[in-house]
Amino acid sequence: MTNDQLGKRVGLMGGNFDPIHYGHLLVAEQARETYHLDEVIFIPTGVPPHKTVSTVGADKQSRYEMTRLAVESNPGFSVSDIEITRKGRSYTIDTLGALKKELAEDTQLYFISGADAIMKLDEWKDYESVLKQVIFVGATRPGTDTAALAEKARQLNHTIGADVRIFYISELDISSTDIRNRINEERTIRYLLPEPVAAYIESEGLYKAHYPMYDKLNTYLKAHLSPGRYRHSLATAQTAKKLAIRYGEDAQKAEFAGLCHDIAKEFKDKESEKWIEKYHIFRDPCVEENPNIAHGEIGAEFLRETFGIEDDSILDAIRWHTYGHKEMTLLSKIVYLADAMEPNRKYGDVDRLRKMAYIDIDDAVLLFFNLCTLYLTKTDTRTHQYTHEMLRSIYETKKKRESE
Ligand code: ATP
Ligand code: MG
Repeated sequence: MTNDQLGKRVGLMGGNFDPIHYGHLLVAEQARETYHLDEVIFIPTGVPPHKTVSTVGADKQSRYEMTRLAVESNPGFSVSDIEITRKGRSYTIDTLGALKKELAEDTQLYFISGADAIMKLDEWKDYESVLKQVIFVGATRPGTDTAALAEKARQLNHTIGADVRIFYISELDISSTDIRNRINEERTIRYLLPEPVAAYIESEGLYKAHYPMYDKLNTYLKAHLSPGRYRHSLATAQTAKKLAIRYGEDAQKAEFAGLCHDIAKEFKDKESEKWIEKYHIFRDPCVEENPNIAHGEIGAEFLRETFGIEDDSILDAIRWHTYGHKEMTLLSKIVYLADAMEPNRKYGDVDRLRKMAYIDIDDAVLLFFNLCTLYLTKTDTRTHQYTHEMLRSIYETKKKRESE
């Protein structure tokens, strides 16, 4: 054994880690064992040279933090901020230059990556020089064409004297892209990545695409609504988004309408009266009795006037969320039900409503009315004329559908 083989062996695991997942960790851990590495340094990229992210990506500080959280329980792993603190694009050649200044001269570097990277190695900046400085380990990934990779590795090793190795591992079919999509679609990411990383994503609200005005209204509602109402608004937004995904409706609009649906709910009666007057809102006896009942219609006008929201599908969903309307769109029904069944709602039979909402949206609206009737009768509350019209319209549509 020569002296250079006795030096430290350090693995470098580069990636966007957007977010880091068990695929990355498994590759690094198995490489650590197989190549007897003393340590593996994870290096989140700053601005990647090739990558364009199709889904919403996290900023570099968040990617660094997630990587730190993911590796902290493994004494053989660490994380470096060398690329995220460097200005401009991240090139491996520059990273190697900087790292070498910190490491002993006889350190053997192993650059660990997915095997898919081998096919594109010769597009890397100064790749020949990179490959002279490291042993390149490309871990297999589900769907990789190993024959083509082996050929490419052979060619690089033969022509430029590189040491490119294909590393056969227990393959995990996990990718950051899939995780980002899952998060955006409110699907589970459990067991795909470490729990502290999932908790960080959740608390920072990462990877969720929102309607353009979402952040602005979220800030406004947080400042203007009571804490309980704000919590209810967020939960309605989440529920509306899930229902929209179930029915192929626009998830961002549903979420946004759910968020804003109660924007006028805490208006004083006098204020509500002003809006009822100004917009000629129909004065059903129950509105005369309690102007606040019209907070959906008022909220829609308020959103248009104050925030310039012009999308009628969103405004209608907010407008009709309390008493319904004979021309309810799918989006309106979604917000109507999300308000009724969001997780904070606790009344007998709400679980039946939650199930029904995913089976048949019209049946769920009818079920909700049945559940309400008892309450309305008990409290001697009148039903708005529009509610009767909505129910009639749903019955008629159902009858027509059944006779076809
Ligand atoms: P994206 O889906 O955004 O491309 P990714 O899951 O490929 O993300 P990256 O941060 O791009 O993650 O990956 C860093 C390196 O880890 C790449 O070389 C990639 O090929 C490799 N890698 C990622 N996931 C796996 C996996 N499941 N198995 C093996 N290698 C992986
Ligand atoms: Mg990738």
